[in-house]
Amino acid sequence: MAGVTAARALSAAGARVVVLEAGDRVGGRVRTVRGFAAVPVEAGAEFIHGVTAATWAEVRAAGLRCQPVPYLRNSWFCLAGRNRWLPLHLLHPGAWPGFGVLRALRRAAGDAAGDGEPSCAALLAGRGYRGRALELARLAVSAHLPGSPEELGVAGLVADGVLRLERGLNHRVLDGYDRVPAHIAAGLDVRLGQRVTAVAWGPDAVEVTVDGGGAVAARAAIAALPHGVLASGTVRFDPALPAAKAEAIRRIRTGAVVKVLLRFRERFWPRRMAQLVCGTGPLTLYWPASFGTDGPAVLVGYATGPRARALSEAGADRAAEAALEDLARLFPRSRPRAGVTGTLFADWPADPNALGGYTYLPPGAAGAREALAAPDTGALLWAGSAAAWQPIADTVEAAYLSGLRAAGQAARLLGGDPPGPG
Ligand SMILES: Cc1cc2nc3c(=O)[nH]c(=O)nc-3n(C[C@H](O)[C@H](O)[C@H](O)COP(=O)(O)OP(=O)(O)OC[C@H]3O[C@@H](n4cnc5c(N)ncnc54)[C@H](O)[C@@H]3O)c2cc1C
Repeated sequence: MAGVTAARALSAAGARVVVLEAGDRVGGRVRTVRGFAAVPVEAGAEFIHGVTAATWAEVRAAGLRCQPVPYLRNSWFCLAGRNRWLPLHLLHPGAWPGFGVLRALRRAAGDAAGDGEPSCAALLAGRGYRGRALELARLAVSAHLPGSPEELGVAGLVADGVLRLERGLNHRVLDGYDRVPAHIAAGLDVRLGQRVTAVAWGPDAVEVTVDGGGAVAARAAIAALPHGVLASGTVRFDPALPAAKAEAIRRIRTGAVVKVLLRFRERFWPRRMAQLVCGTGPLTLYWPASFGTDGPAVLVGYATGPRARALSEAGADRAAEAALEDLARLFPRSRPRAGVTGTLFADWPADPNALGGYTYLPPGAAGAREALAAPDTGALLWAGSAAAWQPIADTVEAAYLSGLRAAGQAARLLGGDPPGPG
């Protein structure tokens, strides 16, 4: 998303642009699967967060159909290991203190940045949560992030805008999310199967080497690599990156995210269930691939952080088994295993082009995204969702905005007019 967005903006401004892509398709962590069900399903990013996301302009320009997913009144919880489903608006008062943690986080973040920054777990411990309230509070801070509360920094979580995820209305692209990057990439010179292994950079020129020895020389380049790939060291920079950039890459963490997609003969979950949030178990969230319709009976299981790491290590078969066992626990009157007709495991940590799901900031890492994004490497500029923090870090929208930002920087370097948003 970041790469093709930057490329299109620069092309529109008159530059000659080449996109080097290691994989065999455009979209990266936006990966739609067709053929698994009667509708497209998402193995990677699935939702547009909020109604003001910058990516809406592309969705509309591409003429894509979208569906709102109203979580607030349709979220169900399984807490304390018991099959007690609680719609959010009826949650037992004993669980409500868990949500107070979001306000507490916001207040604490201001004083917290820097070396003494506590982890989210330390903040929760300080507030004395117990039992179900603690389980809910841990979910509130970490359900979407690929780090445990022990690994997440308070200031980083707030700076990343993650708390907005709990409030905005999400939409799903019914035609498939991959139509968005495909629309942006239309007509661009995208070269697939080109794995970048080295980048030589200077003030006025860049040379990019790809696996197999080919090289592309250019007046400027934009690195739109996932942070997981950057942190793995598989791409060599010459000269080495400045200390502030290298330190930023070290401080930001890419964590594990996996999805287990399960197709059934028929739906056995309530039609109104937009998501089921689980305090314990192998997966954190389940949601239907089609909400509130008579669409195909597909459930998406979602795990981040330690739960995702365990499933990734277990492998596809075991992950599907674990999800089916879990669903039998959650829906004791149904027989999920008897009705399953297909499974698909999206193992992002095992994908060499991602090496993880997405990023979070541990204690002490606030400000690292800004350092990763900084144009401090001459003719080599930086995009990618890990290098963007507005309005919500490491989302499709963040990737898109980072591409526009890097394109503007590149256009100034090339001496042209900054490109417009289209
Ligand atoms: C399971 C999952 C669910 C998600 N859900 C959502 C969601 O609902 N909403 C949302 O907004 N965001 C979501 N995200 C996050 C979102 O997908 C990413 O933040 C965003 O797509 C990243 O875009 P990007 O362009 O920065 O990186 P990528 O999409 O990772 O693009 C980087 C590209 O670089 C290529 N590449 C890698 N290494 C090399 C190399 N050495 N040489 C050349 N090319 C290389 C990759 O193949 C890839 O195409 C989710 C992510 C995951 C994994």
